[in-house]
Amino acid sequence: MSEAEKRIRDLREELRDHNYRYYVLDQPVISDYEFDMKLKQLQQLEREYPEFYDPTSPTLRVGGEVTKNFETVAHDFPMYSLDNSYSVDELRDWEKRIQRLLGDVPVAFTCELKYDGASISLTYQDGILARAVTRGDGTHGDDVTANVKTIRSVPLRLQGDYPDRFDIRGEIILPLEGFARMNRERIENGDDPYMNPRNTASGSLKLQDSSLVAERPLDCLLYGMVGKGLGAETHFELLARARKMGFKVPETARLCQNIDQVLEFLEYWDTHRLDLPYETDGVVVKVNSLQQQEELGYTAKSPRWAMAYKFKSEQAVTRLNKITYQVGRTGAITPVANLEPVLLAGTTVKRASLHNADQIAKLDVRKGDMVFVEKGGEIIPKITGVDFTQRPGDSEPTRYIDACPECGTPLVRKPGEAQHFCPNDTGCPPQITGRIQHFISRKAMDIEGLGSETVELLFQQGLIGNYADLYTLTREDLLPLERMAEKSASNLVAGVAASREVPFERVLFALGIRYVGETVAKKLARAYKNIDALMAAGKEQLQEVDEIGERIAESVTDFFANPVNRELVERLRGYGLQFSLSEEQLEGQTDLFKGKTFVVSGVFESLGRNELKKLIEDNGGKVTSSVSAKTTYLVAGDNMGPSKREKAEKNGVAIISETTFLNLLGK
Ligand code: AMP
Ligand code: ZN
Repeated sequence: MSEAEKRIRDLREELRDHNYRYYVLDQPVISDYEFDMKLKQLQQLEREYPEFYDPTSPTLRVGGEVTKNFETVAHDFPMYSLDNSYSVDELRDWEKRIQRLLGDVPVAFTCELKYDGASISLTYQDGILARAVTRGDGTHGDDVTANVKTIRSVPLRLQGDYPDRFDIRGEIILPLEGFARMNRERIENGDDPYMNPRNTASGSLKLQDSSLVAERPLDCLLYGMVGKGLGAETHFELLARARKMGFKVPETARLCQNIDQVLEFLEYWDTHRLDLPYETDGVVVKVNSLQQQEELGYTAKSPRWAMAYKFKSEQAVTRLNKITYQVGRTGAITPVANLEPVLLAGTTVKRASLHNADQIAKLDVRKGDMVFVEKGGEIIPKITGVDFTQRPGDSEPTRYIDACPECGTPLVRKPGEAQHFCPNDTGCPPQITGRIQHFISRKAMDIEGLGSETVELLFQQGLIGNYADLYTLTREDLLPLERMAEKSASNLVAGVAASREVPFERVLFALGIRYVGETVAKKLARAYKNIDALMAAGKEQLQEVDEIGERIAESVTDFFANPVNRELVERLRGYGLQFSLSEEQLEGQTDLFKGKTFVVSGVFESLGRNELKKLIEDNGGKVTSSVSAKTTYLVAGDNMGPSKREKAEKNGVAIISETTFLNLLGK
């Protein structure tokens, strides 16, 4: 091989790798500038030595090919559409239907987000992108290969192992930030902006000049493979295989063992989908086993083994008059959109959440914009996009605040966190009252006769500066207050006094330690039994408790390291609050299973599953849902999934019966 040929090959290999790291993994290792320099070098060499032409060279990403008429071609395998369901009941019906068709066997599912763009089928022959075809009518589509080749996250050449020939299906999307950027540039150039990312993505595929497509920040997310000898038994494995070949398969895909886990996935993404960099309008649930998929087959239109679930959401368009900033009890800043009132899902909406600085930047939301407001499963409406076609001419980019609107303290933002914070936790009024309001709330101390507004009033009057001060209030303090009748004053004092009986786990929750919600508080209370043991626990020790990760552990140790908080705890203890589990709660609790991890699977004779789990936890053990090398025991009941047994055997995990388990407990 000549010197030049070797240099060309090496550069192509290197650039392909950087391209993959940047566009697929989102983990670049060199700067954009270095990348551009290398690309220029390669372009130069390729011009000098045209004999080493390679149709998969990274230089071809810039496009240049012009397609006058897109050729219609037949798909090797038809592209089906999906059945839709709009409610949890419909989804459950579907599960019952397939369960009936498959008989009495466990059915697992892969859940994926439904990416909102233009469907595409990519054919790879011997590891090289042979063609890219739109869905068309499902049997025939348009050959848009020249355009798709410019999309950086589509591999032109595969890595690792791959089948000789296969199709991979996905969605060409335009991420929100790229969409906003495109529109910003179009407006600056006097062009009409685009209406929405989906239509812009599918329109892009039909542009005649591929160099124009190359300039658009398109992305390609893959969700399915078809062909012979794919070398996997489940859909979830196929996704993992595709990732290894270099495809961008979102990590949001989840393997769910049953329909309940599927519902958890739906619930999670119903509220979190707006944090994604791209749009999604639902979830696609697929039977995981390829064998089961084959048994179920297809209707004329769609696979029986898959079902789309559409998020319930209603949308309205209205003007954003102003962005204001709210300070929460933890100091978290939330930008709020103040809207021209608009009717949405039966209520008038005047305010909507804008999440955080990134969200504003992602959507490029500005004062005066006409914005899309959505109301999904959540109570708080959200801004999901901007109608760029109606942006006023004098519009200016939003500048996020850098100081607390309530106390003026410069805001901070920890690496990896989306939210800005006001660090002045002991002096920032909404943080002070917010913590007290949390303390008295129903799931915390549940103090009768005291509400949020009274807390504000007591704080303004200088009667309380923290939640411990509540226990010093007397009727005499309260009576001079406006609208405080004799009876309300007595009720308030009595309510505060009665809260001394609230159990430890709720007191712990009431303290308002960041990330310590109701469930975590319960776990910590159960694991440590009293506040002294908890305060003495180190970061590592805390993480031994089920579901306590580094973030929570750090927050707990930070809280108790602060002398102000320690003093509050001591004062509360002095007032007689519960800082340890009661005799009753302690009964039946031991350290017998300390450091041991259990997986419970199947149905049991004498115990319910939850009963069994409680017994493990009461005796200091940890329950997890999947078997790994860290598992101590797999408690096996009837009808246990075969994959659990296999995994346990592979990892040398002891498999025990219900009887053996009870024997361990000495029962
Ligand atoms: P529909 O257009 O409503 O028939 O929905 C089917 C389309 O959803 C498919 O053609 C895909 O392009 C698209 N889609 C988006 N995300 C997924 C996914 N994760 N799995 C399968 N199809 C998806
Ligand atoms: Zn502040």
